Amino acid sequence: MTDAVVILGATGSIGVNTLDVIRRHPDKYRVAGLSANDNWAAMCRLCLEFDPELAVLADAAAAARLAAELSAAKTKTRTRVLGEAEALCELAGSGADIVVCGIVGAAGLRSTLAAVRAGGKVLIANKEPLVMLGQSIMDEARAHGATVIPLDSEHNAMFQCLPHNLPAGDAAGKAGIRKILLTGSGGPFRRLPLDDFPLVTPAQARAHPNWDMGPKVSVDSATMMNKGLELIEACALFSLDADDIEIVIHPQSVIHSLVEYIDGSVLAQLGSPDMRVSIAHALGWPRRVYSGARRLDLLECAQLDFEAPDHRRFPAIGLARAAAQAGGTMPAVMNAANEEAVAAFLDNRLGFDKIPQVVERVMERARIEGDCDADGVLAADRQARRLCRRLLPVGAVAQSAQAAQATPEFADGREAP
Ligand code: NDP
Repeated sequence: MTDAVVILGATGSIGVNTLDVIRRHPDKYRVAGLSANDNWAAMCRLCLEFDPELAVLADAAAAARLAAELSAAKTKTRTRVLGEAEALCELAGSGADIVVCGIVGAAGLRSTLAAVRAGGKVLIANKEPLVMLGQSIMDEARAHGATVIPLDSEHNAMFQCLPHNLPAGDAAGKAGIRKILLTGSGGPFRRLPLDDFPLVTPAQARAHPNWDMGPKVSVDSATMMNKGLELIEACALFSLDADDIEIVIHPQSVIHSLVEYIDGSVLAQLGSPDMRVSIAHALGWPRRVYSGARRLDLLECAQLDFEAPDHRRFPAIGLARAAAQAGGTMPAVMNAANEEAVAAFLDNRLGFDKIPQVVERVMERARIEGDCDADGVLAADRQARRLCRRLLPVGAVAQSAQAAQATPEFADGREAP
């Protein structure tokens, strides 16, 4: 018997790595459904190889192109093609044994909810929905009997080092946990002089020293907003308070996180910096399957370093901690502002150093609501994006010392009533 697997975000870095593991185990897994945004060409290749029952492209025109390409192809597939974002929820909730949530950003919120409501095994890499609405997602998972396994390497490490079925409410106290140590490499600019931050280009920010990832999460790693998002993600996944979690810089990315217990034991998960390790762990759980990743050779790494994060260099960490403590829609507001600011940076419209400044400005000005459902959180997300777009420069920002000097302060936008 093979497990039917649906992969949301199949054409991205998480999707490609998941398919790489699945390809190694035709006796264990079969691809039942795939989704992407608009990359019909990559999706066409995947459909011809894996012959899923359903393929969804969020972009309707791209879906039409995919359907035409598949019907003209020599190899015949049984794949039904659907377009538009709503079809993502149909795919996520189709009752597959395993759903992999690998969409990037808030765009994955509704499909993540649909996946946990379907009650199977849900492997979540898409951290933004957990930041926006984590507690509800986990409550829905419990209510529908879904098993959530994190793919983010740090949270997958915690999952492996924590007792299972942590109780909701003071989970750390009840499980004898003193601290969760959330490790992060510090990204490519851990040692870059602060004066050079305005000159950082998108290509430099995308070049992570240890991991090969999609553009948005790579920039988040460079600002360390990724660690901030992960802090909130960990609170949601494991019913923790932000104070239970300490962020530690570990440049080699060999230890993926640690759990310190009150008896003095510290459990860690180690592995090569390769997403296939956590993907294989989660696909196989509670068993183990081969990932294809290079073995970790401790003699080769020899030295493991640790240091405290520099908050002046990485103000995003403090913003995320403040958002976690504020609760309500604040994490969703922070996330939306960050998505917009990162997109503007990748589009050469915002300096690298301005990303956390824009996020902070939006957090100061947005209207924050208490606990909300998905509609409420998505309304907060839209409000934050509108506010953010008013703050962002319209034209391109050249990356040079003179341009950095000349970069205008972002506009003083105010949210419309
Ligand atoms: P990529 O940018 O590489 O891939 C994103 C995927 O989502 C693509 O398949 C893309 O389709 C699809 N997508 C993008 N926008 C939409 C949309 N509006 N609607 C539907 N689908 C959409 O991202 P990553 O794989 O790097 O990251 C995915 C998630 O996993 C992120 O939340 C990230 O933080 C998290 N993560 C990633 C890690 C990694 O190693 N990459 C590590 C840990 C966590 P298309 O190709 O058509 O654009």
